[in-house]
Amino acid sequence: MYRQLGVSAAVYGFGAEVEAALAPRFAGIDRVADYNQGKVLHAMQTHRVGAACFAATTGYGYDDVGRGTLEKVYAAAFHTEAALVRPQITCGTHALAVALSANLRPGDELLSPVGRPYDTLEEVIGIRPSQCSLKEYGVTYRQVDLLDGGAFDYEGVRAAIGERTRLITIQRSKGYATRPSFSVAQIGELIAFCKRCKPDVLCMVDNCYGEFVELEEPSDVGADMVVGSLIKNPGGGLAPIGGYICGTRACVERCAYRLSAPGLGQEVGANLGLMPSLFQGFFLAPTVVAGALKGAVFAANLYERLGFPVVPGGAEDRHDIIQAVELGSEAAMVAFCQGIQAAAPVDSFATPYPWAMPGYDDPVIMAAGAFIQGSSIELSADGPIRPPYAVYFQGGLTWYHAKLGILMSLQKLCDAGLVTLPQ
Ligand SMILES: *Cc1c(COP(=O)(O)O)cnc(C)c1O
Repeated sequence: MYRQLGVSAAVYGFGAEVEAALAPRFAGIDRVADYNQGKVLHAMQTHRVGAACFAATTGYGYDDVGRGTLEKVYAAAFHTEAALVRPQITCGTHALAVALSANLRPGDELLSPVGRPYDTLEEVIGIRPSQCSLKEYGVTYRQVDLLDGGAFDYEGVRAAIGERTRLITIQRSKGYATRPSFSVAQIGELIAFCKRCKPDVLCMVDNCYGEFVELEEPSDVGADMVVGSLIKNPGGGLAPIGGYICGTRACVERCAYRLSAPGLGQEVGANLGLMPSLFQGFFLAPTVVAGALKGAVFAANLYERLGFPVVPGGAEDRHDIIQAVELGSEAAMVAFCQGIQAAAPVDSFATPYPWAMPGYDDPVIMAAGAFIQGSSIELSADGPIRPPYAVYFQGGLTWYHAKLGILMSLQKLCDAGLVTLPQ
């Protein structure tokens, strides 16, 4: 079958060798999925998910049983008092913008103790001038960079927390930065430290790409809000749109008023028939995340064995589903991404090339053959064409598809004469 799909015997054999050594790692990933599947099932059973939850609502969406139950299920799984989970939250950036603007008022200060936030947050905060940014509304921003080596600068954080510090934002995943992603335990230590400095400060975690990677979530270790996108991990590949905010009742209530309107809050918002995919996607998410994690670990080990620097390293623990591979040249990035694209279930016939993109200084190459546009829980890869010529890749709705994508990326590198397999 692999030969029919375009993978040579040599590439297949090399992949099989790498895979054989990963059995203990995969068993560990399966144990986490086993636990998290139980967590989601328990939440669904506790809140009596039934066929009535799948009915479509329209207009105002008053008394939407499905919507209300889905939010209770998310809150139960994340161990929070409340949750806002809506198709009206259009993406991760939107969810984060709602959480921030709902809980920060003019004169407040926002603090990031983990360095620069994700690119799209720069305009939300006003780090890059932007219409309707928090800055325009009188919310100031401070940031404390990580120490060399990626540790938290606790003294710097203590000094930065002041009278106006109202909310602390912590990004779990590295995004496109080179720092490591943080474990839930590390995030818990940082939150505890911040709350010792200022007991009433709110702590929000950007949980994108982190859901179900570990046994616990940041909401288990003191976060007041955890925020993410449904076209990443928790949508399980089925959610066609949406975002979530899980947290304390006080925080989530404000988010609901900000999302709809003061006075309306959580009571409006029709589900438009999306409930089956939002429930079923959440049900599948723990195993989908496990498949994506296996793909990331496989790629890290495969490319590490060929001598390429990879972040995280092949043997390292995972705190998100992102894998970076430093390929060292534009030609290698192009070959890698063309391999990922060729392995896709959708648009496998398309050929990605680097091109100019809004918001980027360098040309960017992107591979994505997804059922849901822009869904990055589906197998996808991208990167800016600049040293160290790293591709970031993530996702894979099944481990077998992730594996094929990675083998195809290697096949294209071999075909282009950019990699020679060890004999
Ligand atoms: C993807 C991502 C976002 C933004 O989510 P979008 O759905 O792309 O708007 C924010 N933070 C992190 C860490 C992310 O990975």
